[in-house]
Amino acid sequence: MDPGSLWGDDDADAPSDGPRVATGPPPTFEAVALAVRHAFGFDTLRPLQEEAVRASLAGRDVVVVMPTGGGKSLCFQAPALVRDGLTVVVSPLIALMEDQVAGLVENGVAAAQLSSSQSADEKREVERRLARGELKLLYVAPERLAADGFLSWLERSGMAALAVDEAHCISHWGHDFRPEYRLVGEVRRRLPHVPILALTATATPQVRADIVRNLGLADPLVLVGGFDRPNLTYRVLPRRDLVEQVMSVVKRHAGEAGIVYCLRRADVDELSADLKARGVRCAGYHAGMDGADRTRVQRAFLNEDLDVVVATVAFGMGIDRSDVRFVVHASLPKGVEQYSQETGRAGRDGLPAECVLFYGGADFHGWKTLMEMSARDARAEGNGTAGSDLDAQLERLGHVWSLATGAVCRHRILAQYFGQDLEIPAAGCGACDVCLGEIAHVPDGGVIAQKILSAVVKTGQRYGAGHVADVLRGAETARIRQTGHDTLSVYGLLRDASMVDVRSWIDQLVGSGHLRVADGEFPTLFLSKSGVEAMHARIPVTLYVPARPKSSATKKPASAARSAALDEVGGAVDEGLFHKLRELRRALAKERGVPPYLIFNDRTLAEMAAKKPRSIAALLEIKGVGDKKAADLGEAFLAAIGDA
Ligand code: ADP
Ligand code: ZN
Repeated sequence: MDPGSLWGDDDADAPSDGPRVATGPPPTFEAVALAVRHAFGFDTLRPLQEEAVRASLAGRDVVVVMPTGGGKSLCFQAPALVRDGLTVVVSPLIALMEDQVAGLVENGVAAAQLSSSQSADEKREVERRLARGELKLLYVAPERLAADGFLSWLERSGMAALAVDEAHCISHWGHDFRPEYRLVGEVRRRLPHVPILALTATATPQVRADIVRNLGLADPLVLVGGFDRPNLTYRVLPRRDLVEQVMSVVKRHAGEAGIVYCLRRADVDELSADLKARGVRCAGYHAGMDGADRTRVQRAFLNEDLDVVVATVAFGMGIDRSDVRFVVHASLPKGVEQYSQETGRAGRDGLPAECVLFYGGADFHGWKTLMEMSARDARAEGNGTAGSDLDAQLERLGHVWSLATGAVCRHRILAQYFGQDLEIPAAGCGACDVCLGEIAHVPDGGVIAQKILSAVVKTGQRYGAGHVADVLRGAETARIRQTGHDTLSVYGLLRDASMVDVRSWIDQLVGSGHLRVADGEFPTLFLSKSGVEAMHARIPVTLYVPARPKSSATKKPASAARSAALDEVGGAVDEGLFHKLRELRRALAKERGVPPYLIFNDRTLAEMAAKKPRSIAALLEIKGVGDKKAADLGEAFLAAIGDA
């Protein structure tokens, strides 16, 4: 506990005449909507936001499960604006906290944080404001809630609600488990009357159950949003020349923000050096770097001093930059959940963004080996559930592998994974490589499948994909000479196909379950029951040619994102003006010491560049412009628009 802090047991400053929470009727939803309009400049709350707000105001516990960019923050920020007393927000990362608080302050909301990054004076100032009842929102790290006397002090200062952000951190089933989050359960035990609102983007039932149990929620209203992100375009390609492939994505988004995820730290270092050498404003980020370097990269990215961050998955939570226009995976993620979380960082402003996954068969085997190894270690340490954990992990890996190698609408598959059925129009979703017709079915896929499956059988079901492909392509390798496989009837049957295609077809057959990969030391292939059926042409098999992005995908229109967003912002965006407004935003952000996206997001700037408001009143009509920003920044933006 901080020496001299106000929440000591016998402190004199905190109110002693009971909680300051009003006991009158809760504020109406209409009052919330009005406050949101004034503070944030949004004319409406989204349907789930409205439900969450209504329930929370009525004192009910709420669990909100929404994808990244779904608008979770407003679920607790909106009621906090109007409710009597303080809303305490638990957040896992200081950077995340700082940005959210800075964003709220920019919008004129009385918010503050208490964190270890503050000086004693800063903390005391926050404590004073709390004691005077001046704050609407207070952000804290989970461990602070458990500090001696802090909770009772908060109660005496009028704590009226608790919001738990990134609530999946409380579950060891989640991928970001933080033991400190368990301390948050104290709040319910100590202050049972304070309603709790828990938020997460992680949708698995196990995680959800853990949240409810560990926070001690009572009959919570569970709200699950739509997991589809229509503004994201998904593409999946076999990895060939990774650097060139990544460059082609980066070039489509010149000057725009993106994240490239790699599996290993060494891959991060190598790829970021390669991209830098090609003139990309990028930096690497991984957990092996020291804390100061990591913070520097993260800040530079948020401040728009960097366009691209090449990173391991350590880079993620807390990256609130809303104009990330692409997310690349340089190799297969370990599950669909992770994939969805990581790609979710693209296009949070609602404007179009692109997600490209590059994969190879080696990724699958690499993960599998890793999972098996750690399960072995866990068993050796006496962990009895290691076996079932491994099965679950392998199943999740299988799902992401099918996603990669399959040729079904990516939006549909992703939504399905989260238990949601997506209606896809006959013409396709318009936002994935499959529906955009970028991947072509092989006309005689069934026959090719037969050839591959019989090559696996003829070589004794004892070899991996590389050798089988060599045999089919009629290669002259030492191994082929040794084994005499050049005398087999299958030798050279796919002589005209490229290595990449043959490997991809094998991957696809693994993905569809016709081929299996053995558990042993080597990833040897063998046929499943359905594989035998397919070999005898008793069931249909479709194969596709791995995506070769069409010109529409490779050429970069002046600004695909903005022109595709015309509907969204209601008119043609003046590109020149848009860039000018971005520059202005950057300058103002520097002046005010906040990241640019906290000034206005790209969507708001695009709408300004389309509608060209000429007065403060007209500016206030634009989504994302609240009263305070209109007052603080309105004249500067009107001036820039005025002489456009
Ligand atoms: P999450 O926390 O779920 O990832 P955010 O709270 O960051 O999502 O919101 C995502 C984006 O949606 C932000 O740019 C936010 O300004 C915008 N947004 C949220 N609610 C609304 C609303 N009711 N109307 C318009 N824009 C909204
Ligand atoms: Zn699709």
